[in-house]
Amino acid sequence: MSHDHTPTAMPSHFIRQIIEADLTSGKHQQIVTRFPPEPNGYLHVGHAKSICLNFGLAEDYQGKCNLRMDDTNPEKESDEYVQSIKESVRWLGFDWDGEVRYASDYFPALYDYAVELIRAGKAFVCDLTAEEMRAYRGSLTEPGKESPYRNRSVEENLDLFTRMKNGEFPDGSKTLRLKIDMSSGNVNLRDPVIYRIRRAHHHRTGDQWCIYPMYDYTHCISDALEGITHSICTLEFEDHRPLYDWVLDNITIPCHPRQYEFSRLELLYALTSKRKLNALVTEGKVTGWDDPRMPTIEGMRRRGYSPAGIRLFAQRIGVSKSENIIDMSVLEGAVRETLEGEAPRVMAVLDPIKVTLTNFTDGVTSSRSAPFHPHHPEFGERDVPISREIYIERDDFAEVPPPKWQRLTLGGEVRLRYSYVIKCDEVIKDDTGRVIELKCSIDHDTLGQNPVGRKVKGVIHWISAAHAVEAEVRLYDRLFTVPRPDAVRGEDGEYVDFMQFLNPASLKIITGYVESAVSSAAAETRYQFERIGYFITDRYDHQTGQKIVFNRTVGLKDTWAAQSA
Ligand code: ATP
Ligand code: MG
Repeated sequence: MSHDHTPTAMPSHFIRQIIEADLTSGKHQQIVTRFPPEPNGYLHVGHAKSICLNFGLAEDYQGKCNLRMDDTNPEKESDEYVQSIKESVRWLGFDWDGEVRYASDYFPALYDYAVELIRAGKAFVCDLTAEEMRAYRGSLTEPGKESPYRNRSVEENLDLFTRMKNGEFPDGSKTLRLKIDMSSGNVNLRDPVIYRIRRAHHHRTGDQWCIYPMYDYTHCISDALEGITHSICTLEFEDHRPLYDWVLDNITIPCHPRQYEFSRLELLYALTSKRKLNALVTEGKVTGWDDPRMPTIEGMRRRGYSPAGIRLFAQRIGVSKSENIIDMSVLEGAVRETLEGEAPRVMAVLDPIKVTLTNFTDGVTSSRSAPFHPHHPEFGERDVPISREIYIERDDFAEVPPPKWQRLTLGGEVRLRYSYVIKCDEVIKDDTGRVIELKCSIDHDTLGQNPVGRKVKGVIHWISAAHAVEAEVRLYDRLFTVPRPDAVRGEDGEYVDFMQFLNPASLKIITGYVESAVSSAAAETRYQFERIGYFITDRYDHQTGQKIVFNRTVGLKDTWAAQSA
């Protein structure tokens, strides 16, 4: 039976084409991909791209995707990071095949393959110091020099490697290196180190090992042991591919996955490096890895971005080998689009002015109910109560309005959303001239109908003071003041510390008023505040019915494009 392997409605790209060809030719019956993070930090938006790609391909082609912790650098890794990585992948809507894998589970196998390489005369124990090794390595234009230890006998190498494992030598005093070619044009092939001595406690293997395998050596073998068919990574590993293949070609292993590279995502006004994000956390510039200003998956979650929004973003930015520098507006646009039909809508006033409705009359002035979403009647309705005092947004009133003003002004009319048309009769100011109250009158004939004999175009949101619920509202803005904070060079040509470009106004905390309908909301409930934006109750600090805390996810319109222009 012949299969059409093209999933519908998914934008194609070169990796899909390779997979489709491999399935069609019968090279593979089923694809197996993997997502291999190092548990040395929380995952960020760049990883989200890689997750959507690897897990997405497995889903689309009925294959499998493994989650593998690439844990070969014990000093920087921890179980906290492992847990957050698992949580982030699940939250994005993906699940891995079987159990989580760990490169550290392969330490015994990796050791045995190293012994096999030594036996075959393809690996040797080297005593050069790190500094000497650098000098011997040569440069891009000059070949390297062979290590004086390169011609040790197999017996001596086996003995030394065993003793390295047994802890007989100090940290850093010896390495195990592959014997490839010191004059190779590709520096990765100049007798790369595959094991180093490091007495460090490992989050899973404890103190069992004092030698640890290097990334390039570990990665290809881990892929092969798991039967990965397509090993997809970012472009900086393109030059490592010959080494990936060399290792697999020189050991006895029945599987040889193929490595394919795509360009990494760079998101403007954000950093996509765990090391740099870690610095923001440890230096206290943000409240943690999950600070809503962080481009981490946990940060984006707390900010209110939806998994669907991030997946849509990943789909839009595509997969290729050319530069992938993306404006924040693309991410926000995707988030906004997915929230539009999902988030119930309520009214909130974040910067209030008090309005007294002078002709409010008990028993005459009445309220209406309103749907939570104009296109989703199944979201239900709530009452939108009115009282003598209401709040409106300060910028919905202008004493001296600009041309085409459709909001409230002295002597003008406006409709209160889901309620009456009101007219402003009087403006009350404090000693400094700041407006502190408006006195308005209701046209009692306008509830649910148009006023007779005139048109009132403007509609504003508002909230009944007697019914409003106070909320702490956290207004987030971009974390940096420049688009590429880690790519700015000073006069000396050196990179300037990106900490200098932190936006001091990236968080503003205010008290706003929201409809009482939201007081029963659980943590992580999203709403659209009409005419303002999307908000989510904070995952940690919001306490249902007691302390309402909202994070601003994104405004209703794209303010980024305008600001960064
Ligand atoms: P970082 O520099 O942030 O630590 P990394 O590439 O070292 O990034 P890993 O944990 O090794 O982080 O990455 C796991 C996977 O995610 C790798 O396959 C890597 O290529 C991919 N990845 C990391 N950053 C990006 C990015 N910005 N865009 C796309 N994929 C990425
Ligand atoms: Mg890394």
